[in-house]
Order: sequence, then structure tokens, then C-alpha cells
Amino acid sequence: MTKGRAPTRARWPDSVSRAVVTPLQPSVVYASLDPDALDAQYERRTFGYTYAREGHPNADVLGGLIDEMEGAQGGVVVGSGMAAVSTALLANLSAGDHVLGADQLYGRSLRLMAQELPRIGIATSLFDATVADTLASAIRPETRMILIETVSNPTLRIADLDRIIDVARKRGILVAVDNTFTTPRAIRPLDRGADIVIHSVTKLLAGHSDATLGYVAARDATVSERMRNLAVTVGLTPSPFDCWLAERGLYSFDLRYDRASESARRLADALANASGVHRVLYPGRTDHPDHGRVASLLSGEGGTMVSFVLDGEREAANEFVRAASALNFAPTLGDIGTTLSHPATSSHRGLSPQGRAALGITEGFFRVSLGCEDPDTLIETFLDALPR
Ligand SMILES: *Cc1c(COP(=O)(O)O)cnc(C)c1O
Repeated sequence: MTKGRAPTRARWPDSVSRAVVTPLQPSVVYASLDPDALDAQYERRTFGYTYAREGHPNADVLGGLIDEMEGAQGGVVVGSGMAAVSTALLANLSAGDHVLGADQLYGRSLRLMAQELPRIGIATSLFDATVADTLASAIRPETRMILIETVSNPTLRIADLDRIIDVARKRGILVAVDNTFTTPRAIRPLDRGADIVIHSVTKLLAGHSDATLGYVAARDATVSERMRNLAVTVGLTPSPFDCWLAERGLYSFDLRYDRASESARRLADALANASGVHRVLYPGRTDHPDHGRVASLLSGEGGTMVSFVLDGEREAANEFVRAASALNFAPTLGDIGTTLSHPATSSHRGLSPQGRAALGITEGFFRVSLGCEDPDTLIETFLDALPR
């Protein structure tokens, strides 16, 4: 009897026709012809992959597509949105520098500013990005970077972006914009004069809550190169499979975004007219405090997120979520299905009740990330679940 043996590595079949779908390439290592050929690759006389942490085709395909959407070049794809935020900060700041952040940044970005950066000698402070007047006095001689989001979570306030960029530019301070919430469908920060654009690709771009990825790109090629080197050295490598999934998600991004914004607009109006709802926050509505910036900053549209405040306390919030069980109560956004989040018990649970109250985040506060369901059914689900 012959003993079966493991085969030697197979070769991909040659074909005169090509696949329409981008192949998924999980290979960590790449074989070269001989030492001369490898030398040429490392010296960049020829292009070839060597080792996946240094770069792989699925990340490059995805990065190229997001570059096109953002009007960027040489964007870096990394393993999560927070890896992208960290890349932007760590590649461009040194001990002794100061970074200014908007006071309503994504929770983990705030934590990076409050805990991690100071530990390595980078000073941080926060300012109110909706009122650019406060910026000049917050800038220090050692301020190197300003990190903002165009629309804040979960109160959906809109930053005074143009003025912030203007003030920063005059002083040679880098402006990094986390465009996760707004996406290039609403605004392209590099076109507006920002230096760096950041994404949690996990959210709207990939769109299906099945891939965790980030993206960061800079206007200046040296800054891009510095960020790519940092990400490779620190090891923020994205998974090829996640890149492959996200690429598939990108092809339907416009359709998903437009459907979700239309539903958001309709839901905001329906909730505003419903009893049991204390307040609706939607930038597309004229009663939103920053509605005046929607035309110039968000291409005239209110976006895919709606926040609202239910009358009542925790019990009313529990009852609403249970009654709306057709929706996923999950602290994320940008999924193809509508998700509900309750900041008081999730993203903002670390704040004191007074801290939350200052932002208007009460027990009745909900944030909705609109998905692509039938809008009529969706609105009915919300209205039926409201307290009567
Ligand atoms: C989710 C999110 C992040 C972090 O992204 P991950 O992919 O979860 O690491 C950063 N910024 C914003 C605005 C986000 O919503």
C-alpha cells in the first residue's frame, strides 16, 4: 500500500480569459525569480509584492478605489478605523508637539487623545469645532495638527470646516478630517483644503458590518509615505479577505447612501410630527442648529443619520427598543440594515450624567443609522414602536 503524501504547492491555472471579480489573495509571502529580481523589487526598479504586511493586492485594489472616491492619491488601507486615526497622529506628531481635537470626536479617538498620546509626550486639548472662533485661542506655538469630524456623533452638529482649515493653513498646521460619517458622497475634505482624510471603512464604505478596516490619505506625498511606513512598521495590516469584502461593498455605495439619506429625511420628518418624540436632530431639517452649513458643506443633503429624543426615561427607552425589534439595536452605523444606538448605555457611557446632559444626551436619546429597507415599512416600524 502506498502512503498518500501532501502535494507540493499548486500553480494557478492559466486562462486566456480573465476573471471579472477581483481575486482574493491571502498569500502572506510572494516568491521571486532569483536574488537579482528580488533586489530590483526592493530597489523599486520593478514592482512586486514580497510580504503581506508590507502590502498586498487586495489592499491596493481597495485603496485605489477609495482614492478615486476621495480625490486622493496613495491612500493607505489599515486594519481598522482606529488604526487609520492612529496612523494619522503617530506618523505626523513627535514628543513635544500638541494636537487639537474636536470635543465631540468618536469615543476611541477622544481616548487616544486623553490617554495614549500624553503618555508619549504629545500634548492634546479639545475645542468646539462648530464655533471656529474658539480655535485661534486654543492653538499653541507647538500645535502641529487639528483632528475633526465634519458631522459629530451622536448630536449631528456640523463643524465650521472652511474656517478651521483657513486658520490652520495660515499657521502651517495639518488638518485631519475623519470622514466616516459624511463620506465622499457628502464632502471630499481634500478638495476643501484639508491635509489628511480618514475613514473607518468598516462603516458606510464597506456597508455590510462584515469587514473591519480603515483608510487614511494625505494631500502631500511625503506625508502619505510617512503614514504608509508607520502603518507597515507598527503592523496595522488589513486582512485581504476584509479588503475583498469591502471592495464588493464599495460598488453599491452610491445606491446605499442615496437610499439611506432619502429614508433619513423622511424618517426625521415623520418623527418630528409624532407624539412621544421630544426632539429630532437631522441636519437636513431647517430646525437643526447647523442647517445653514448643509448647503455648502454637505452637498445640500442631511445625510444618513438621524438622532431623536424620546419623552421619558430608561424605561421608555427599553420599551421602544423592544417594540422596534425588527431593527438591530447595535452600536454601529453604516450597515445595509437600519441600526439603532442608545449613546447613554454605549458610546457615551463613560461620561457622567452631567457630562451627557451637557451634550443633550438623555436616557431618551437615540441615534439611527438608516439602511436600505423599504422606507414606508421602516417608518411604520418606528411609529408603531413609539409610546402612545
Ligand atoms: C467607528 C468609527 C471609528 C473607528 O473605526 P473602527 O473601524 O471601528 O476602528 C473612527 N471614527 C469614526 C467617526 C467612527 O464612526
